[in-house]
Amino acid sequence: MLNVVVLVKQVPDTYSERRLTETDHALDRESVDAVLDEINERAVEAALQIVESHGGEVTAVCMGPDRATDAIRKALSMGAHKAVHLSDEALRGTDAPATARALAKVIGTLEAVDLIIAGNEATDGRSGAVPAMLAELLGWPQLTHARSVELDGSTVRAARETDAGVLQLEAELPAVLSVTEKINEPRYPSFKGIMAAKKKPLSVLALADAGIDAAEVGTAHAGSRVLAAAPRPPKPAGQKLDDAGDGGTRIAEYLAAQKLV
Ligand SMILES: Cc1cc2nc3c(=O)[nH]c(=O)nc-3n(C[C@H](O)[C@H](O)[C@H](O)COP(=O)(O)OP(=O)(O)OC[C@H]3O[C@@H](n4cnc5c(N)ncnc54)[C@H](O)[C@@H]3O)c2cc1C
Repeated sequence: MLNVVVLVKQVPDTYSERRLTETDHALDRESVDAVLDEINERAVEAALQIVESHGGEVTAVCMGPDRATDAIRKALSMGAHKAVHLSDEALRGTDAPATARALAKVIGTLEAVDLIIAGNEATDGRSGAVPAMLAELLGWPQLTHARSVELDGSTVRAARETDAGVLQLEAELPAVLSVTEKINEPRYPSFKGIMAAKKKPLSVLALADAGIDAAEVGTAHAGSRVLAAAPRPPKPAGQKLDDAGDGGTRIAEYLAAQKLV
């Protein structure tokens, strides 16, 4: 049976005003609404489409505080079969490499995983590094920034979007895939799905349950630290040109001066 893991993260709602804490400049998560990251809804959708075509099960895996349960339930209400939640106070402020190490340990507690699907970049942390780090730690091939994916037996193919063009990637399972917002349109959970999600298996792991050493995670053990943060300066007002018959030329000159043409 195909075992697909989808990595889901709870993030502050992008519609709310997001702030950093004064003390350690980490994201202030308590004062804002939290949601399942939209890119992870697409990752869940990709996982569901794969098992709907090929059979198998989807397990949602999340590392996050207690209230991340809401995001996990959303993944379950969309159709994921079960979920694992790594939740431990010691994880607060964990950096990207340690997040990847912790997630790799959680994956190790699951039965023979074939494919891991993640978002290409979380809306809050935005390091865009966890999927690649996880693949490296597991020694699995990585197909990142996929805008389409197809599974053919034990071969996974993905179209990877870059600034220079689209690369066609192919790898044998097990593999790690990360998806961009172009991959699909995620389904809305149905009322039936929301009710069913309440009864689906959700196991909560503390650090020790996953064999994670507390000395490897948390702000105190992060390899990088945010030393200072400042709000982005307001955008300067635009430049208005009155067209006296030479508008086209002046716009072209302006764009050339900005090195845009
Ligand atoms: C001192 C310090 C404090 C920090 N505090 C915060 C903080 O308060 N908030 C914060 O967001 N970041 C914080 N970070 C950054 C931290 O590195 C990231 O949150 C986290 O490690 C993952 O990085 P990312 O969110 O940029 O993931 P990305 O690499 O951008 O995420 C890509 C994909 O990986 C998967 N993924 C990532 N994280 C998880 C997860 N936890 N569970 C399941 N899947 C996941 C998802 O599928 C996601 O779409 C802090 C870093 C340091 C050094």
